[in-house]
Amino acid sequence: MLPPPPPKLSLANLPTPIRPLDRVSTRVGGPRIWLKQDDYTGSLSSGNKIRKLEYLLAEAQAQGCDTVITCGGIQSNHCRATAALCAQLGLHCYLILRGPKSLGKSEICYSPEQVCEAGSEGNLLLDQLCGAEISIYSPFYYAKHLDALFDNAKGQCDTKGRKSYSIPVGGSNETGLWGYITAAKELQNDFKLHNITPGAVVCASGSGGTQGGLTLGFHLLSSSASVHGVAVCDSGEYFKNKILEDVSAWEAKYLQQTSTLTEQLNINTFEGYIGPGYAQAYPELLECIAMLAQEEGVVLDPVYTGKAFYGLIKEIEKGTFSAANDIVFIHTGGIYGLFPFKNEFVF
Ligand SMILES: *Cc1c(COP(=O)(O)O)cnc(C)c1O
Repeated sequence: MLPPPPPKLSLANLPTPIRPLDRVSTRVGGPRIWLKQDDYTGSLSSGNKIRKLEYLLAEAQAQGCDTVITCGGIQSNHCRATAALCAQLGLHCYLILRGPKSLGKSEICYSPEQVCEAGSEGNLLLDQLCGAEISIYSPFYYAKHLDALFDNAKGQCDTKGRKSYSIPVGGSNETGLWGYITAAKELQNDFKLHNITPGAVVCASGSGGTQGGLTLGFHLLSSSASVHGVAVCDSGEYFKNKILEDVSAWEAKYLQQTSTLTEQLNINTFEGYIGPGYAQAYPELLECIAMLAQEEGVVLDPVYTGKAFYGLIKEIEKGTFSAANDIVFIHTGGIYGLFPFKNEFVF
């Protein structure tokens, strides 16, 4: 049984469609792959983050906050969705971004203009269009001082008489977890409608909230669907710890109980598809993205969904899902993150 969810804002286009990818499934020679199109949750706010933000921004408004502070990579989809939704709701948005490696160990705070000499693009361009206040730091400084950067942003808001609400990277915490707990319920309806019992539900994992929410959601619904995250950064161990931490905090906040669920959850993460690093592409990945676009008219990005789908195909080839008739792949969005890779594709 799902406990009653907390209040949320109705921002996403839900339920999202689901459809089988029969040409690709035949080509791979494995189970029937279904695409759950969370890239259809919105346009400017498309992707998985809006499901979490429906709960997070409701809490921000309930607390009387007029400013949202969050963080991410320079091409963060989460930051772009947050900037867009803040503009829609009339909230001020403050983004703390991790800049490119070329900034070295610098301790300077940069503006987009200083970092992108040729002009910003993709998600960063959209952040700017939506009027977000943007600070960019070197990856070194960002990793070392992220908490202090949040404190500093909050301090600046306080000075201006604004009340701020902070959202961690990817919107993954106990509140954001609700986005994919309730998505598990939506998926359960999809399964019923199409009369399928998927052997697995597969998604990209970056901050763990999608994988964690689905894992917890299906568990609470007593569903047999097993969730597999494909790591696009960090290790399986990292995702296990992060998800269990969020689930414990969720139990404490919403069920007023100390953790009982963490013992019962199976956290499955595929490693080995990251390639050279987070947000770095490799030839087989780019070929897989082009193949899916040509076969099915579905566009993935090299940072998240492309790596997850490539991982899914490789796992099918290895025989990991040989017992399954159906597999559901969650398209978590990210289209704007494709464009900065325009020079890496070979046609
Ligand atoms: C953030 C993101 C993910 C990863 O989701 P998490 O909940 O952070 O693990 C996957 N795909 C896209 C397109 C994303 O932007």
